[in-house]
Amino acid sequence: MSSREADPVAHEAAPRAPAAPPEVHALLRAIVDGTPDAICVKDLQGRFLLVNRAFADLRDSTVDDVIGQRDSAAGRDGLSADEVAVLASGESHAAETTIEVRGAARTLHAITFPFHDASGTPAGLVGVLRDTTERRHVERQVQQAHKMEAIGRLAGAVAHNFNNLLTIILGYAEVLGDGAVTATEQREAVDEIVRGAERAAWMTRQLLAFSRAHNATPRVVDVGAALMDLQGLLRPVLARTIDLSVHAGDDPGTVVMDRGQFEQALTTLVVNASEAMPSGGRLRLEALRTRVDAEDVASAATPGDYVEVRVWDSGHGMDAATRGRLFEPFFTTKPDGMGTGLGLSMVYGFVTQLGGHIDVTSAPGTGTLFRLLLPRSPEPAPARRPRQVAPPQPGGSETVLLVEDEEAVRQVARLVLQSRGYRVLEARDGVHALEVARAAAGPIDLLLSDLVMPRMNGQQLAETLAEVHPAMRVLLMSGYPDRVAPGVDADPRFEFLSKPFQPSVLARRVRECLDRGRTGPD
Ligand code: ADP
Ligand code: MG
Repeated sequence: MSSREADPVAHEAAPRAPAAPPEVHALLRAIVDGTPDAICVKDLQGRFLLVNRAFADLRDSTVDDVIGQRDSAAGRDGLSADEVAVLASGESHAAETTIEVRGAARTLHAITFPFHDASGTPAGLVGVLRDTTERRHVERQVQQAHKMEAIGRLAGAVAHNFNNLLTIILGYAEVLGDGAVTATEQREAVDEIVRGAERAAWMTRQLLAFSRAHNATPRVVDVGAALMDLQGLLRPVLARTIDLSVHAGDDPGTVVMDRGQFEQALTTLVVNASEAMPSGGRLRLEALRTRVDAEDVASAATPGDYVEVRVWDSGHGMDAATRGRLFEPFFTTKPDGMGTGLGLSMVYGFVTQLGGHIDVTSAPGTGTLFRLLLPRSPEPAPARRPRQVAPPQPGGSETVLLVEDEEAVRQVARLVLQSRGYRVLEARDGVHALEVARAAAGPIDLLLSDLVMPRMNGQQLAETLAEVHPAMRVLLMSGYPDRVAPGVDADPRFEFLSKPFQPSVLARRVRECLDRGRTGPD
């Protein structure tokens, strides 16, 4: 009785099978040879004991030639590092590898497992390799097709949205142009125009983020500080009827992530919240430390330490049907053309890619709470660059060479700089700029140039001009964020300003650039 308990299967085990008769051996041989997967069996010295035709084919050889050979492809000992690990652990290993077969690259999915002799000691390895080249190829095509379809739908939605915004902007601009408006109406019209343009700028940023979502650069981000900074960006975009409060007390901690993506995710949540409160309300952003314990069955997040970011609004809330589909791409309840339905799916992608978790609590009429659990990093917050006290009037009297092929953008930049006292020389492209610079009397203190331009890009222009004006500072502008634009990777020696920019930001950056030139060693 007791011996049975010690070996629970003993009483069920069939009598030991007699050694396989020759027919069975031949049958097994036929099966191994006939399968399209490549199969090999190696001994502990890396010599092939058995291979099938598919395997010999991969080596461009015959079964008889391969058997007995040491596996030269696996290294000097006939065993690869993975195979040695499989023997040591006794566990099977799956991996994808690419090898060259008769001049063409093939992708192989390989499973390796050990086999044992009658006494149970490892005697060698079995490898089963499946050629997944075609499948991978089709998968990539499907992915690409999905992406193209998504971009197509996105472009349609964005175009629609843009038209709405342009209608608003043009409409108010015309009202202003008529002249017959009171001071209050004038103020209102300007506010609407600025808000419309800011929304349009936000949309283009979203589009760009969508097309280069894989270019994220993760860094240690102090979530509390990022949230406080974001407040300054968001407040001007929100209607004045929305009461925004931000709380990040008690050092919520750091997360390793792309800061731009984080800002974008939060902005998406904030825009949604503000859209849920068309006649105003309260909006609260908060960051705090959270721990999810293994016993915490109510939480869907993996146990661990998190920075929890909460976005709460007092808006109209949502019903169960909306809650259930919220994170689906292209799901929107907004009227035609007003929503893309991509905001939350991007937030979801961002959070889950970090290994975090997002959930929502909401009901009609009770407001909405989004909770983002972002894996907390043990790293301390990076030291903040000391904040500069904003100078009241960041102007100057230096000479700025302004190069921009877009007439309207050039005009705005010129007005901003002239109104702050600078002497501005204008050029419409790089070649023209060289002419203007040659004709100019006196030094050029700063080159403010578009990065992407026909004939000669901003960087080439800067390098050419630097030969004549060695003390000249360079500030490059581009509609592409993060210094990368088609055909140009901005040189880190140059300062960089992404478009669209606000006049105050342009003025501040110009001043900063010039000041660095004066105080810093070059
Ligand atoms: P879009 O805003 O373009 O519709 P999103 O993915 O950002 O796309 O949001 C999807 C839907 O989720 C919205 O259409 C809306 O119905 C709902 N939603 C999102 N945030 C909120 C919120 N704070 N309050 C109420 N409903 C919301
Ligand atoms: Mg949205």
